[in-house]
Amino acid sequence: MAHLKLKGLRKSYAEVETLHGIDLDIQDGEFVVFVGPSGCGKSTLLRCIAGLEEITAGELWIGDQLVNEVPPAKRGIAMVFQSYALYPHMSVAENMAFGLRLAGFTKDAMKAAVARAAQILQIEHLLDRKPKALSGGQRQRVAIGRAIVRKPGVFLFDEPLSNLDAALRVQMRVELSRLHRELQTTMVYVTHDQVEAMTLANRIVVLSAGRIEQVGTPMELYHRPVNRFVAGFIGSPKMNFIEGTLSGPSQVRLADGSNVTVTADSGRLAVGAKVTVGIRPEHIVASATRTEGAVQAHVQLAEHLGDSTYLHVTVGNAPEPLTIRTDPENPLNTGDTAWLVLPPARCFLFDEQGITLP
Ligand code: ADP
Ligand code: MG
Repeated sequence: MAHLKLKGLRKSYAEVETLHGIDLDIQDGEFVVFVGPSGCGKSTLLRCIAGLEEITAGELWIGDQLVNEVPPAKRGIAMVFQSYALYPHMSVAENMAFGLRLAGFTKDAMKAAVARAAQILQIEHLLDRKPKALSGGQRQRVAIGRAIVRKPGVFLFDEPLSNLDAALRVQMRVELSRLHRELQTTMVYVTHDQVEAMTLANRIVVLSAGRIEQVGTPMELYHRPVNRFVAGFIGSPKMNFIEGTLSGPSQVRLADGSNVTVTADSGRLAVGAKVTVGIRPEHIVASATRTEGAVQAHVQLAEHLGDSTYLHVTVGNAPEPLTIRTDPENPLNTGDTAWLVLPPARCFLFDEQGITLP
């Protein structure tokens, strides 16, 4: 078990800086997820923590030790990658014990460690098999087992579920949560999948272009994103953004001339300022009948998912359609005119720079 501290961590490859000063504290036993679009630096940051990349500037602490110069094997960490990298000629048990043999464990100690990990991962019946006789999910479990046997202070995961099909990903997600509860070890997990981030994390770190945008619990990020980037990244389907101009205090005029009232405080902006209203698909109320103040829209497509229906609608000449999640009994269908109510308390207001107004 260990806490982590990153202070002004920078990483450059040749002349190009990839991480631009990362400050982050990870508590002992915490499950922290790094999330962000492809290429934003998640893997680089994880590899810096692992010691697979040298950091260019700043400090990295694991427990009470400054580890900038400490080799990977001495950092008390274990890493699980997207590719399982199992030895094909070794059995599951041998694969799991391999690192321990190198570390000079006795036969009995190795056997006990492998048995315990296999029990935790429910792969006891697979110990004598070779990797080629395993499914993708079973192979990934062996790779995780190989990490568990080393009893690391910190587990590092880099998109470990990306090679699995959707159903298996859901199952492994549940198992990883259970694993964390059982081991109570610090885990740092990288994914580009915001659903994985929301479901696994105690805290999420949202990264963009080598910088931290926001750190918070899943619900903090959902309810109080600091900017438009985080607002658009967390939540599925993603938040709708509607461009407009401020027409009065907390009043926004949209391109089609309709007005939206928000509870956010527009105080620091002048009337006429360019703003963006953000509202999540689950918060727009769409109906077939007109009500006072409702915004007129055209249903381009209704997708019936059974438990809910997604309406893709356009407002005036706005280029981007809005997505609405509604209940399956909603009578609106493709081609209909819809009337949208945007509840003021559900609307986010962003300034021209994309910063959330409080
Ligand atoms: P992510 O895991 O978020 O998709 P990465 O950390 O892999 O992103 O990459 C972040 C950036 O660093 C990318 O622009 C990538 O091209 C660059 N990068 C990663 N590894 C290297 C390397 N070994 N040499 C040069 N550039 C690299
Ligand atoms: Mg990556």
